[in-house]
Amino acid sequence: MSEFLAIDFTNPWNFSLFTITTFGIIFFRYLLISGVYHYVFYKLFQEKFIKNVINFKPKEIQQFRTEIIRSAITSFIFALSGTILLILWKAGYTGIYLEWSTYSLWYLPVSLLVAMLIHETYYYWLHRWMHRPKIYRLVHKWHHDSIETTSFTAFSFHPIESILQALMIPVLIIFLPMHLSILLLFLIIMTISATINHAGIEIYPASFNRHWLGKWIIGATHHDLHHKQFRYNFGLYFTFWDRWMKTESPKSDEWFEKHANH
Ligand SMILES: [Zn+2]
Ligand SMILES: [Zn+2]
Repeated sequence: MSEFLAIDFTNPWNFSLFTITTFGIIFFRYLLISGVYHYVFYKLFQEKFIKNVINFKPKEIQQFRTEIIRSAITSFIFALSGTILLILWKAGYTGIYLEWSTYSLWYLPVSLLVAMLIHETYYYWLHRWMHRPKIYRLVHKWHHDSIETTSFTAFSFHPIESILQALMIPVLIIFLPMHLSILLLFLIIMTISATINHAGIEIYPASFNRHWLGKWIIGATHHDLHHKQFRYNFGLYFTFWDRWMKTESPKSDEWFEKHANH
């Protein structure tokens, strides 16, 4: 690790090499998670899909292609953000730490939860703003081109939206101390949650929407309604902002119960 950290990443050659490598990892991880997720659930529960999404008709293949190209651009922007984060870390501007004993062990899950709550708040309000008509047409429409979403929609954003999303991590990590492994776990949760919420199949058990904890967690049917109705369900991981701001779709429970695994 110390040898790796000794590298000067502000050097254009090292900067490019690290960014391209990170791009490869992020994009491959996206293809792998989305591909495996879709394949496994489609093989097992074909009849449970919200729409019988993939019959590989030309229009659907075109949607896949568009989503994957847009996700490649997003992956590159996320990789750039990763390199910038690394430079900031090396320069001592971030709260990233490596020694487990730097903070108490209870701080590890707490820092993850705090990061998710801050991300939720940032994304909810950014998302509301992106639905203003002028901003929507410029920034957010690309993501909504997928009305019947698939696991490949997870990273399908306009580059401006990708930049707005990517900005959050370096800014957050300047203020919030996080162990490197917790930061990486946070990034993995982010990717898996985006896949779950777009895959077009509800994986949470029946009555999850009425469970004391489950009702606060967003799943595929919740976000599916956002893509279909536009004016409801703006949240990312949790439902609390939608509930407080009264933007939760009145159809949420009905849609969940219709598609959850009974
Ligand atoms: Zn939206
Ligand atoms: Zn979406």
